[in-house]
Amino acid sequence: MTSLQLSAKEEMVEKFLDAAARGDLNQVSTLLIHIPSLINQSGYSGWTALMLAARNGHHHVVEKLLSLGCDKFSVNNSSQTAYDIARFWGHRHISNRLSRTDDACQRVLLSSDLSPTENYFSRETLDRLSRKRTDKVWLEAKQSHPDTVYLLFSNLSPMVTKCEEDDGERGETRLCRFTFDAVQDLLQKPATVLIFLGVERKNPSSSSWSRSDDGSLEPPAWFAFNTDADAAELLKRCREKNCFFPKTPNRDLLQLSEDEAGVVAQARSVLAWHSRYSFCPTCGSSTRLEEGGYKRSCLDSGCRSLQGVHNTCYPRVDPVVIMLVIHPDGNQCLLGRKKIFPAGMFSCLAGFVEPGETMEEAVRREVEEESGVKVGPVQYVSSQPWPMPSNLMIGCLAVAVSTDIKVDENEIEDARWFPRQQVIDSFRGAYPAFVFPPRQTISHQLIRHWIRMNSNL
Ligand code: ZN
Ligand code: MG
Repeated sequence: MTSLQLSAKEEMVEKFLDAAARGDLNQVSTLLIHIPSLINQSGYSGWTALMLAARNGHHHVVEKLLSLGCDKFSVNNSSQTAYDIARFWGHRHISNRLSRTDDACQRVLLSSDLSPTENYFSRETLDRLSRKRTDKVWLEAKQSHPDTVYLLFSNLSPMVTKCEEDDGERGETRLCRFTFDAVQDLLQKPATVLIFLGVERKNPSSSSWSRSDDGSLEPPAWFAFNTDADAAELLKRCREKNCFFPKTPNRDLLQLSEDEAGVVAQARSVLAWHSRYSFCPTCGSSTRLEEGGYKRSCLDSGCRSLQGVHNTCYPRVDPVVIMLVIHPDGNQCLLGRKKIFPAGMFSCLAGFVEPGETMEEAVRREVEEESGVKVGPVQYVSSQPWPMPSNLMIGCLAVAVSTDIKVDENEIEDARWFPRQQVIDSFRGAYPAFVFPPRQTISHQLIRHWIRMNSNL
């Protein structure tokens, strides 16, 4: 393009923006008939025709631009939308028109065609083979089988090793794996809790599977156990270098591969349940481990928990809703921070689902309790097991129907609306003033999901 053509185009954009700023509906319409691509062009400081019309209260121009499909969610260099501008300058009829939620809700919630991302901790690496949990003979044979893999937990932390990479980068954390022979003595101690995790899923043609008596190929079984033996002594059992038990599970357990994270999600949750529910919750008697570690039955034969099915006998899962709340203008999201967060970190709001409550109602209640913002439509996006100790994080998008923030300081320290552009800049590292939780968290994935969704509009 020659500089002459360029300046002609710039001149046309300027003329169009000027007409919008003056409220000249005729000229705006005429120019758009001839050059439809003008509609989302911006000029000085990133201002679009819609923003200029909104700034000066030209309602008819705003209507015309919206009817022709202009992007009301774009932001200027100060991260303001046309809605923000109309609101700031007190043009309420225009800000009301721009904040209409039906439009925003549809935009937010119609975008489920995106392929779902896999959340950390959610991979089903092993086949759980739950039907085998009641097969004592099979389980016992597997326990002493030379191919069987044991994961060793101490104080609910798995023994891991840190691989040192050649290039000096921080290496991946891997689970230490043991054979039956190496841990047999620990398994016999009364305080040890052993659970069956499942069998490997790999294609039977692959390497290490051994043949059973009838000649069929048997995938290796995996077990996990928690022991109260001395941790320093336990570390000496491993042949690998750099072994340790992670001290802060919320951080250290996020460095595993996706495959191993999936195994830890299952193992740690079940072991944590055993560590906190040693006695019968119904009568307080002692209990016995059954079904490969997936059940605890009361030893008092008269106990009510032995009649019928009771959820007290099985490992518990605690549902938590975690939601990214979208502003009615579709262009900002609500994030909050707890006092315990690292400096500058903001995250999605979250809270436990209460008994007798739907997921959607839990989202609305939690958001209003913590931030004062009222929520309308709620859409499920994806979920994530979080084994500290046994939460199921239910990730949702939600659309706000009010925007004023009133923080409940008992729960969170701060909550704010973040413009989309600022969020994008922050992901790129171009806006270091605030940071998001790490990629392994569903909060991070929900924010990314929203950014990707918006960019496709
Ligand atoms: Zn009991
Ligand atoms: Mg709460």
